[in-house]
Amino acid sequence: MLLPTTKETPSEAEVVSHQLLLRGGFIRKLTSGVYTYLPLGLAAIRKVGQIVREEMNRAGAQELLMPMVQPADLWRESGRWQKYGAELLRFTDRHERESCLGPTHEEVITDLARRELQSYRQLPMSLYQIQTKFRDEIRPRFGLMRGREFVMKDAYSFDVSDEAAGESYDKMYQAYHRIFRRCGLDFRAVEADTGTIGGSFSHEFMVLAQTGEDTLVICEQCSYAANVEKAMIVLPDECLETGELQAMRKVETPGMKKVEVVAEFLKAEPADFIKTMVFFVDEEVVAVLVRGDREVQPVKLKNLLHATEVELADDDAVFKKTKLPVGYLGPIDLPIKVVADQEVMRMRNCICGANEKQYHLTGVQPGRDFIPAMTGDLRQITADDSCPACAGPLKLTEGIEVGHIFKLGTAYSEAMNATFQDCEGQAKSFVMGCYGIGVSRVVAAAIEQNHDQHGIIFPLPLAPFQVILLNLGLNSEDITGAADQLYQDLQARGVEVLYDDRDERPGSKFKDADLIGIPFRVTVGKTYEKEGKIEIRNRLDGRTETVDFDLAADVVTGMVKTEMARYTA
Ligand code: ATP
Ligand code: MG
Repeated sequence: MLLPTTKETPSEAEVVSHQLLLRGGFIRKLTSGVYTYLPLGLAAIRKVGQIVREEMNRAGAQELLMPMVQPADLWRESGRWQKYGAELLRFTDRHERESCLGPTHEEVITDLARRELQSYRQLPMSLYQIQTKFRDEIRPRFGLMRGREFVMKDAYSFDVSDEAAGESYDKMYQAYHRIFRRCGLDFRAVEADTGTIGGSFSHEFMVLAQTGEDTLVICEQCSYAANVEKAMIVLPDECLETGELQAMRKVETPGMKKVEVVAEFLKAEPADFIKTMVFFVDEEVVAVLVRGDREVQPVKLKNLLHATEVELADDDAVFKKTKLPVGYLGPIDLPIKVVADQEVMRMRNCICGANEKQYHLTGVQPGRDFIPAMTGDLRQITADDSCPACAGPLKLTEGIEVGHIFKLGTAYSEAMNATFQDCEGQAKSFVMGCYGIGVSRVVAAAIEQNHDQHGIIFPLPLAPFQVILLNLGLNSEDITGAADQLYQDLQARGVEVLYDDRDERPGSKFKDADLIGIPFRVTVGKTYEKEGKIEIRNRLDGRTETVDFDLAADVVTGMVKTEMARYTA
């Protein structure tokens, strides 16, 4: 078996799942964000895939497989050839036809539906595939967590009406709960932003783990949970501050750029400041105003400006492009577009940069001294805010997005003229939904949640093998005979066994078994020779049992069955 385990932690791997997948011989990197799945890695991915497949089928979806290469013309019809940005890998074939590698398949499936589904009698229809996707991610990292090439399950539903589409969505919502429960993951469904997929309504499924790239906000009082990209901020009704309006004044603040430093110098609070953050918004330079102690939420900004790409600009880049006195920026007479968080417009007597080196302004009044081009909810929610649903207390936590479901409505069917005949013979646009799961990312997420200092501890349903059988007596005919026999007996009982009959020291066999995280370890060694007994160890709690060889196959099979029963949907 190709199972190249290593002792050293690879320096390129920052998160534990990436480290352990490399060390355990699950994956090897070909190039940035692109990996070969070795036999063990592929087996784990297939385990996830199989659970997904069973639950999709149960929910009434049918499996198909669409092409990876997609013609640009379809993407022009939906409008996404322009909108999708640099994550879409585009190329031209020998006939000068523009194409792309599929990052997702709304266009292809909508094209299929408009050709093959004519009547309301064929609806509802749900279709799915498990396939390799390509997204030219700006920062591929963390191994299987954010690759450029990765395995995704994507499903699509077609319905006659909003109401029917809502039912399809609910079915998928339930199916996703079943899937992640069966995978043994600690997860949470949260309200989410709809991103470039578009549509009106969506939930993300988040595996709770500190290394997650997403931040979630969860209400401690009601059932509200959302991605911070989406979590709305409810402003209190009344003005935040009262008191007399001051006149604007310029003050010298030599060498002071940071809000905290200027605040201390002026004996003010960061909350008295208007912070001016500069973003590149699709090539345009935009100043975003938030209160001094707040952070801009880039996805909210992207949505407000209907932009494709938004990135916080670093000081050098801003200076290069605008020649503005970075560090001393403020909204008054700033020669670039200014947008403001809603809260800024409620502030009084503020401090901000003067757009002149070494100077700030005090007594600034939004509305009186400047008027932004646009205002909206642009800041990131914090644990000090209150729940947008019930005003209760909130807590923030990190999550890894493993699934995302969307109500698309008629966005794609209208753009691509995909219609069916309703029961009165009228042409109507399909009401659609789409539903993704990052199959390869689930493996990484499971490891983030289930490991110790020795290696992976796979939840049984995702383990590439259920049992690892160690032969510790390769030179003993007795031991080897017994181990071979047990290997066959377990396989005959339907148990998935990895047989370690390598000529290695016991110590390294134990280490490797712990590293690759197989839930049950069965050892045939000296105790067999002496007492006819074998040892069974549970990777999760380290509990060890010694049983008679004659009973071993049945006992192990029973343990696997009992453990598996814990992971019901
Ligand atoms: P993210 O915010 O992490 O980039 P996304 O919103 O772009 O994800 P979707 O378009 O909803 O992702 O894709 C469906 C699922 O595919 C995601 O929920 C995630 O689990 C998985 N996925 C997306 N991008 C990647 C990637 N680069 N590598 C691995 N899995 C991914
Ligand atoms: Mg993405």
